[in-house]
Amino acid sequence: MIHRVQFDLPLPEASLADETPAGRRVIDVDVVRSPRRRSLALHVSALGRVEVRAPLWADTREVAAFLDRHRAWVLRKVADARANPPWEPEWGEGGHWFWRGESVQLAGGGARGGALADGVLALPLSAGHTARQWRMAVQAWHRRQAVPLLESRAQALFGEHCLPHRLKRIDLRWMRATWGTCAGRRGADGRRDVTLRLNLWLAALPPVLCDAILLHELAHVEHMNHGAGFYRRLAVLNPQWREHDVALKHWSRLLFPLAAR
Ligand SMILES: [Zn+2]
Repeated sequence: MIHRVQFDLPLPEASLADETPAGRRVIDVDVVRSPRRRSLALHVSALGRVEVRAPLWADTREVAAFLDRHRAWVLRKVADARANPPWEPEWGEGGHWFWRGESVQLAGGGARGGALADGVLALPLSAGHTARQWRMAVQAWHRRQAVPLLESRAQALFGEHCLPHRLKRIDLRWMRATWGTCAGRRGADGRRDVTLRLNLWLAALPPVLCDAILLHELAHVEHMNHGAGFYRRLAVLNPQWREHDVALKHWSRLLFPLAAR
């Protein structure tokens, strides 16, 4: 159950000067109520959307009081998000996309299926096509390249680090909030039958960070949790996992708000 309410939380003038009609000093807050929640929680997205997650019993006055107690934190997060907006592609000639960590420029007039050369992704489109047609062509091109690339990389790393377990299935899809998951059942012979679910966005990352995600998932083959054993295993598979995690935060912030639309 979601409803949108407006709260009178005055934002710093500077952060809103360009986008707020004069005199409007409120922000929209989505209140999401769920029977399973026991306490109030706040979330500010990378796009600056504010959400309060609330139990059913919390009424609007309760939510307002909660927001008021966290006013400074909310304002700081919203101002921050607005000052550093995530990447928003322009769907059309001259827009850009990410591929293997590089920014790729979109161009029309390409051959069927599209082709990437010298940082330009040429698609069989023209200025007459809609933003939606451009987006679909870019994502279809991305998927065609990403599927074989991610499958073969996952298989190679699995072969290097996870034998004698078996990689049963690789499931590739666009996901909104996670890079990948690893599931596995132990067979009668003690080996695991592993299913990897991987985000197609992985192909937009620099290859070293794509590998860092794959190695994280492969560390789960032996440890299906985030316990101490898992981190010991991860440190063996990828000694630089900490610095890779920091870099991945940047990419998550850049790509996932887009994926969530
Ligand atoms: Zn994990």
